[in-house]
Amino acid sequence: MGQGGSAKQQDLSELAPALSHSLLVWWEIQGRKDSALKPWMFTDDGRWPEPSQHVDPYGIWIAEVMLQQTQLQVVLPYWQRWMQAFPRLEVLAAADEHAVLLRWQGLGYYSRARRLHETARLLLAQIGGDPTDPACWPQDLECWLALPGIGRSTAGGILSSAFNNPLAILDGNVRRVLARHQAHPTPPMRAQAQFWRWSEGLIAATPGRARDLNQALMDLGATLCTPRNPSCGVCPWLEHCTAYASGTPEAYPVTDAPRSLPFSVIGVGVVLNQAGEVLIDQRLNEGLLGGLWEFPGGKQEPGETITVTVARELREELAIEVEVNQELITVDHAYSHKKLRFIVHLCRWLSGEPQPLASQQVRWVKPEELGDYPFPAANARIIEALQAYLRGLAAT
Ligand code: SF4
Repeated sequence: MGQGGSAKQQDLSELAPALSHSLLVWWEIQGRKDSALKPWMFTDDGRWPEPSQHVDPYGIWIAEVMLQQTQLQVVLPYWQRWMQAFPRLEVLAAADEHAVLLRWQGLGYYSRARRLHETARLLLAQIGGDPTDPACWPQDLECWLALPGIGRSTAGGILSSAFNNPLAILDGNVRRVLARHQAHPTPPMRAQAQFWRWSEGLIAATPGRARDLNQALMDLGATLCTPRNPSCGVCPWLEHCTAYASGTPEAYPVTDAPRSLPFSVIGVGVVLNQAGEVLIDQRLNEGLLGGLWEFPGGKQEPGETITVTVARELREELAIEVEVNQELITVDHAYSHKKLRFIVHLCRWLSGEPQPLASQQVRWVKPEELGDYPFPAANARIIEALQAYLRGLAAT
């Protein structure tokens, strides 16, 4: 319990009909029922679907996967650009991976883009008829859970949004709202079964409105029951909310003590040849950033200067010798599980044909063509710094 521990947990299963009702009343007026914000939720003629109507599962599936770690406002332009490039399932299935990763660039978690691509091919094989007809898409939970990158909440989100199937969701927003309503004493991830039962109870209390209820829950978490400064005064659940009654709603969800993340320094070489081309390599397909392109480099060893690191890494990973010159930029980047400092040096290629000893392939490219390759977020600032450096050279 939070500091104001006098508030008592309530039986959410008994309260579910009242909570669902007040939530939907609030959502009808205040929810994000806006085609400019969630275009994937609307029918072809621009209306919010009636309970019996189906909505194109393709756009919903793409949006749900993009929303897994990212907020709606950030996702929207990515979703729009994606739908321009791959407007239908069969177009995505036929696309090459390079184009798919390029469209995903900036969203992070690139394995999700690769799984979307793989899943497009699997879905196309499963859908017997016309993929533009929602009725031809799989509509049961088990089918979706068997696809790569689709967990229970994503599957519930897709099926409730597209087909109004009575399936619950449990994303970060929903966990936070429920944890606060109940002032739940442990981190939600340690009580998943209980949280799923609560979310399912709300769906069961509103027959025929699963689509609306799930959207309402997410909207409540995103607009009122926000991580910081929740707007309890205008919340439809205020009357029954245990965290609010405790006086410290922000104390929920309870979290484990933060871990300190491991930190490493990475020496990176931006290697230029006599033709003014720059050397990039494509990472192996495994791991968080698999398949993306990057400037070569690697971890600094204890006692090593960074210029020695850069020269050694380029020798070990590409079999080339370089002259390590001035520092171009230092970029700090935090991932969910580690922090990295990239110290980037300009290098002059001296000898050795570059070999992909630790990557899929290496390529010399013109600096102005770097935008044609998908890079991890940390590399965007390196590219900017290189282009500013080259503009400065051209001006002198
Ligand atoms: S009353 Fe406050 S803490 Fe409780 S659900 Fe509403 S916004 Fe969240």
